[in-house]
Amino acid sequence: MPSSRTVLDLRRGNRARVLRRFLLKGESTRAQLAEECRLSTATITNVVTDLIVEGLVEEAGVHPSEGGRPVSRLSTRRAGAFALGVDVGESSVVVDLYDLGLQRVDRETGSAGHMVADPEAIVKTLASAVETIRSRNEHIEDRLVGLGLGLPGIVETGANGTATLHAQSLGWEPVDLDALTTAVGIPVLADNGATTMAIAEAWRGSARGVSHGIAVLLGRGVGSSVIVDGSVLRGLSSSAGEWGHTTVMIGGRRCPCGARGCLEAYIGSDAIIQRWKEAGGNPRSDEDAITELIRAGNSQEATAVKVLDETIEILSSGLANLVNLFNPEKIIIGGWIGLALADLGLKRIEDQVRAHALHSPGRHFSLEVSELGNDAVSLGAGILPILRLIDGHND
Ligand SMILES: [Zn+2]
Repeated sequence: MPSSRTVLDLRRGNRARVLRRFLLKGESTRAQLAEECRLSTATITNVVTDLIVEGLVEEAGVHPSEGGRPVSRLSTRRAGAFALGVDVGESSVVVDLYDLGLQRVDRETGSAGHMVADPEAIVKTLASAVETIRSRNEHIEDRLVGLGLGLPGIVETGANGTATLHAQSLGWEPVDLDALTTAVGIPVLADNGATTMAIAEAWRGSARGVSHGIAVLLGRGVGSSVIVDGSVLRGLSSSAGEWGHTTVMIGGRRCPCGARGCLEAYIGSDAIIQRWKEAGGNPRSDEDAITELIRAGNSQEATAVKVLDETIEILSSGLANLVNLFNPEKIIIGGWIGLALADLGLKRIEDQVRAHALHSPGRHFSLEVSELGNDAVSLGAGILPILRLIDGHND
């Protein structure tokens, strides 16, 4: 006789497999689920009944029958659960509310009012935006399963389960994230922004079905998240993928992290603007300088063209390093700077990456723009509490 603990684990595992299938596909039938999850029809019937009772799955009509019994269609019950996903920047936050179908149902943004705010100001802005969106959606409060954060730094979870943000590039002291859970009163889960982008792309975007992929997130900071065999590569303390701080020039430009010659010191947004200014560029405002630079480049203004060409060359050699190191089938480029550079010529970047990379891995990868664009980080953050719901740890 199996122990009751084993039976419980087995049930929880079966529930997770079936629920994950629903969330990935949206709709299914009992027969399809049995085949896809490799479970008996009797087990599927029990699990589906439990999920319907939980309010997470619903009957969605019947498939027309061809002589036999009509087949019930089942779908995710979108109003069955809600999650908040937050894209935390260095000066602002975007808080999105998602339903169980991962559709966004509301958004609230907040700004701390500085180019780089201190963490206390960001936490305050975050708490206020979360309170606003929750007060606007009070009717879903009992179905709100948690809050996910996509953060601009390394999120390290200690042996005792405490989570700490290390945002060295922003000059922040380590931030204790557990205090936030107490402040908002719902479970808070957190990960690096490039990682939440990778999770979102894997669930709903360009990385669906990709076993070996890399999401690169370019904004003020430069990060990546590497998917190996379908899982995010984390390393010993979750800092794997800190691509922005790989050295591209010995003794080169000073990076916000304190070191010299990091990739971020050349292709992060502030670095690009600084390089343009040093080359003689004269943007009217720092806030819109990248737009001005790209406009000047499109008008064939020589200095702007040179700075953009160099930026694409450095980006491409950095991406080639990722290709050589991880042999991905796909690299997905995102973040507002990533989207802007890709817009200048994705094929050109891809060709340059191939020119820098070893022939074999260089032949096998493709470069794509994030399908989810600027929404990727918050969607992936919103998926974090949903993953917890799938695993049955929401009690
Ligand atoms: Zn650095």
